[in-house]
Amino acid sequence: MLTTWLRRVEERLRQALPGYCAFCLSNQASEKGWCDECQALLPRNSDACLMCAEPRSQSPADSAERLCGHCLIEPPAMARTTADYLYTEPVKTLVRDFKYHASTRAGVLLVELMLTSPPDTAKAALMGVPMHPAKARERGFNQADWLARQLAKRLGLASFEGQCVKHLPAQHTLNRRARLENLRGAFVLPQSLPERLIIVDDVVTTGATGQELARQALGAGVRCVELWAPARTPPGRDW
Ligand SMILES: [Zn+2]
Ligand SMILES: [Zn+2]
Repeated sequence: MLTTWLRRVEERLRQALPGYCAFCLSNQASEKGWCDECQALLPRNSDACLMCAEPRSQSPADSAERLCGHCLIEPPAMARTTADYLYTEPVKTLVRDFKYHASTRAGVLLVELMLTSPPDTAKAALMGVPMHPAKARERGFNQADWLARQLAKRLGLASFEGQCVKHLPAQHTLNRRARLENLRGAFVLPQSLPERLIIVDDVVTTGATGQELARQALGAGVRCVELWAPARTPPGRDW
């Protein structure tokens, strides 16, 4: 019993220490925080739809085919979505540790994962998905805003902060149409916005939140809006 407990404590400590791989706990970690072996095993979201990052099963030949059925029929407001990893283990645990247990180490690792292949950030500014103040108080922080600020600092970009003025129920309980309707009027964007805005979130699930923010930003004069998150939920979701 005590040995199990001690082992767990030791594991948590190692996980928190630089030099040790966050995933396999070996002492072979690079500066990013994980080892090369784990890097190769991380669940990549390759061959995803360019616009919404919906994971696709086959490698399409040309870029027109690099869009999912939904984006071909009804292109979303965001020009592109970058979400290079799938929301499966071990990325899922990282996101949950960060979001629900406020683990700074997990947050830093997510930033590093996002920086392994960032979108084109020329002339762009970042903005985290806004969170209602009541929810932010409950959670202690807005994880998307935290990621946006860290990334902006690392990339030398400006970061903007919007507001969420509507208490949103858990989005995963709603279907796509209901999500979109529910999001109407939920956000207030800052007065002055850049020419290119990259919205940052922790996970892209249906893209409905990004879609609503992008729609609003384009309406406010932003010329191009993109979405950037470390992970995308696996296919078969409601988008
Ligand atoms: Zn490792
Ligand atoms: Zn798509």
